[in-house]
Amino acid sequence: MKVLVTGGAGYIGSVTAARLIEAGHCVTVLDDLSTGHEDAVPAGARFVRGRVHDAAELLGAELSSFDGAVHLAAASLVAESVENPGKYQENNVVGSDRLIDALARAGVGRIVFSSTAAVYGEPERVPIDEDAPCRPVNPYGESKLAIDRLLDDIAVRSGLATVSLRYFNVAGAYAGLGERHRQESHLIPIALQAALGQREEMVIFGEDYPTPDGTCVRDYIHVADIAAAHLLALEHARAGAHLICNLGNGSGYSVREVLATVEQVTERALKVRVAGRRAGDPAVLVASATRARRELGWAPERPELSVMVADAWELVAAGGDR
Ligand code: UDP
Repeated sequence: MKVLVTGGAGYIGSVTAARLIEAGHCVTVLDDLSTGHEDAVPAGARFVRGRVHDAAELLGAELSSFDGAVHLAAASLVAESVENPGKYQENNVVGSDRLIDALARAGVGRIVFSSTAAVYGEPERVPIDEDAPCRPVNPYGESKLAIDRLLDDIAVRSGLATVSLRYFNVAGAYAGLGERHRQESHLIPIALQAALGQREEMVIFGEDYPTPDGTCVRDYIHVADIAAAHLLALEHARAGAHLICNLGNGSGYSVREVLATVEQVTERALKVRVAGRRAGDPAVLVASATRARRELGWAPERPELSVMVADAWELVAAGGDR
């Protein structure tokens, strides 16, 4: 297949592009490098620099030659979305709307979209399945939910085959590609920076949650397994239908358990301080991903948290995250 990967210079996008190329697909990456890195675009992919808003102009007549698109380009910081919701409306909602419209006009038949567990907000029940109510608690989750709804609509109206993949907590590294955010806010990369001595200490945001050790519980999933789901989604997408699948391992780890795993893998002790809760953090987010297994034939190959941490550590310890 000839596949357009938006956001292919970012963390999940670059790994997805790499796996598509390994599987023999022809990949073009569209990325404006606002958060991505050009050197993360895998060898063998064509790179076009620009915003998803301008895909029609940037790719011109070539757009109609694509068999599918994997759309990952987005602003994705929860805290930033609360401070600057307009950016999330413009980048994520308006940008995706324009891109999807351009793809539909050009007759690109398959669209796989990177959605998020953040669309569910504070869950009523865990594990969370795709029929759980969607009540996002921040503009980031709102913006992704708006696109999920758009994809529902466009599948029915235009007969496109669309899939939304709702990621839980993505971790790990693959083929030298890892998490490299200019503004790091995620637990595992921050803990690895602390292990490397690039940070004085680790801060745990809240120890008074209704969980076994009082810290938040999340479902971590290896980036290579996330990428594999995109390939399966491209294959299994059905014309006129919008499939929504959660991607997680179905098991939760607390912040303290993650930090213990980091200490074990890196063989370094972390200096840890407990602070107050971070706004908007639900106590427990764990996925039911039985639909992805059933509908896509997806089976995570690296479900162990220690493997995710070790893969990420191997890259940062080698200075590979630059
Ligand atoms: N967290 C923490 N300290 C940090 C970063 C994150 O205690 O320096 C906690 C955060 O409150 C959440 C969990 O780790 O409960 C995972 O946060 P992350 O930002 O990695 O992912 P999120 O679940 O917000 O998507």
